[in-house]
Amino acid sequence: MAKNPGKGRCVHCLKEVPERNWDHVFPKSWYPDTTPQNLEKWQIPSCIRCNRKYGKIEEDLIGRFAVALDSKNPASAGLVETAIRAIDPAAGRDDRDAAARLAKQRKFLADMYKGEEIAGAQVMPGLGERWGRPLAQQLAIKIPGEKLMAMTRKIVRGHVYLDNKTFIVPPYKIECYLAEDEKVKVVKELLDKHGKEYKREPGLVIRRAPVEGDPLTALYEITFWDQFRTYAIVSTGKALPRLSPRQRRALKRAQLNAWLQRRARKQGRPKARARSQVK
Ligand SMILES: [Zn+2]
Repeated sequence: MAKNPGKGRCVHCLKEVPERNWDHVFPKSWYPDTTPQNLEKWQIPSCIRCNRKYGKIEEDLIGRFAVALDSKNPASAGLVETAIRAIDPAAGRDDRDAAARLAKQRKFLADMYKGEEIAGAQVMPGLGERWGRPLAQQLAIKIPGEKLMAMTRKIVRGHVYLDNKTFIVPPYKIECYLAEDEKVKVVKELLDKHGKEYKREPGLVIRRAPVEGDPLTALYEITFWDQFRTYAIVSTGKALPRLSPRQRRALKRAQLNAWLQRRARKQGRPKARARSQVK
């Protein structure tokens, strides 16, 4: 995919633009070291502006997630190390690069919390303490909820484009959620039964349960590095007549988890607990 896609519609902002380039659905830097060399990294046509905008979001998020991921999990192999190098001035190519790394380090450190500061904070499902440390030794880093939801929307748009070369245009919209596994059991059953898996192994997985007779309406689950998930519903927002009562209940249940987002907005950003590798 070396050649740029040229003029056309941007998958993200839907504008017709004179120039586009390839945007990675799962960011290139989010693939772990364990990714097979010959694995095709999904790409979609994006306007230059959206590509740049998402590039910034992706860089910020991976820096934060990486310190909260399990460095022993093959699905996120190498990401912790790469993120730490990215904020290490000593790894800089020159003075300017070293200064940029230091600035990033300061930004992340300002968003980190320790011990008692974490108590009572909202913890991202899947990214809580997994190393059995007492609270006093735990560290947490802020994960900007809006950025995570922007990434979820981006991946859903990208997947729809890859799957059938279509765009998600109004009245269709994408609603995104964070939810604890046990609170979305019915949603999971629905995905187990009707969902199709699209994998970029190890660890990056999209599951999509479509609604019969409607090419766009679907429930999505995106798994990141085998460690946490986001959910999305693509629909017109109106009643979904083709859904069985059971499916409708499942969707409603998932929508209830929007409280997580609203709460996050009200109480500040959700925090993910992180390993204490960044000093
Ligand atoms: Zn765009």
